Amino acid sequence: MNKTKKNPQQLGDSARTFAVRLMQFLVVPTFVLDAQGRVLIWNRACETLTGLPAREVVGTKNHWRGFYETPRPCLADLIVEGRTDELDGLYVSHGDPNAMTTFGVHAENWCRMPRRDLEFCLAIDAGPIYDDNGELLAVVETLRDISAEKRSQAALERLVSVDGLTGVLNRRGFDDRLALEWERGLPQGGAITLLMVDVDHFKSFNDHFGHQAGDGCLQRIAGILGEAVLRPHDVVARYGGEEFAIILPGADAAGAAQVAARIGKLLQAAAIPCSPSGGGGHVTVSVGGATLVPSAATSFAELIRHADAALYSAKSAGRKRYVAWQGQAPVVPQPGGGPPATP
Ligand code: GH3
Ligand code: MG
Ligand code: MG
Repeated sequence: MNKTKKNPQQLGDSARTFAVRLMQFLVVPTFVLDAQGRVLIWNRACETLTGLPAREVVGTKNHWRGFYETPRPCLADLIVEGRTDELDGLYVSHGDPNAMTTFGVHAENWCRMPRRDLEFCLAIDAGPIYDDNGELLAVVETLRDISAEKRSQAALERLVSVDGLTGVLNRRGFDDRLALEWERGLPQGGAITLLMVDVDHFKSFNDHFGHQAGDGCLQRIAGILGEAVLRPHDVVARYGGEEFAIILPGADAAGAAQVAARIGKLLQAAAIPCSPSGGGGHVTVSVGGATLVPSAATSFAELIRHADAALYSAKSAGRKRYVAWQGQAPVVPQPGGGPPATP
């Protein structure tokens, strides 16, 4: 590095050369497009981030190659071409383009950079530069690798909503998910089924085999419940202790009965030995189910209450069985205001 200290006026370079140099050595990955969308500057930090050398992009419109496998606009292109209304379809999150002031637009995206063959989450800022007459001269885009932040944030979110013992959602995750599925179901008018699953005579299992074996048993049961549900939006959660909850969005009473039957079969096949005082044989579960159509007149708290009551009935009736809540059949509103029908 040149150790002689000079201020910009003394450098002897023209102001333009100095500005370009400033950009080129800026530690923030930056590129600049001219008013026609061609690359004017592709700085060293940008070369390091993308693995794409400046000589391959300067003077071209090939800057997308630094970030994507196939051609698509970058944030700076959207500003050059006045296409900021397309942000929604191109970025996982972005700022309000209508609020774009001289500071430009912010967006975030996961990119698999072809030259690095690694996936990065980038925080991207792009802003226009105008001349004295308000004509667009250039657009500057700066990039920041926020992959580590995003990954640790996701891991933290998983930690707070996942049960440490079984790996399924914990009670908090269950609450969030049920609220979400309920909200999602409101406009669609489809049913949601909730199954509450409680291990039979689990206290005596612990007493006989020990708490550690009990933990292992809960892990196996969580795995079995995960196998018993087949649809992508189905959710298994540990509701508490030896009780699990399964959310089946879009499932009616008949579909729920099928899942309950599958749980019984899988558990039978697993043949986990039961304690003698728990009746010998193999570990079983009792399942209570309730189905409701989300509406303003009901709530998901009601769904939990009915599934709980059904589980209580299953226990009272001798355990190792499925009981579905037989309350009022949910009313499905008919399009066009026709008579209500029951599903
Ligand atoms: P029932 O058939 O009526 O459900 O009887 P039960 O013995 O399963 O029910 P009870 O509520 O009497 O006992 C639940 C037991 O579950 C007691 C508790 O020690 C055990 N348990 C709760 N959480 C855990 C856990 O994380 N690990 C282990 N090993 N046991 C747990
Ligand atoms: Mg139990
Ligand atoms: Mg219990």
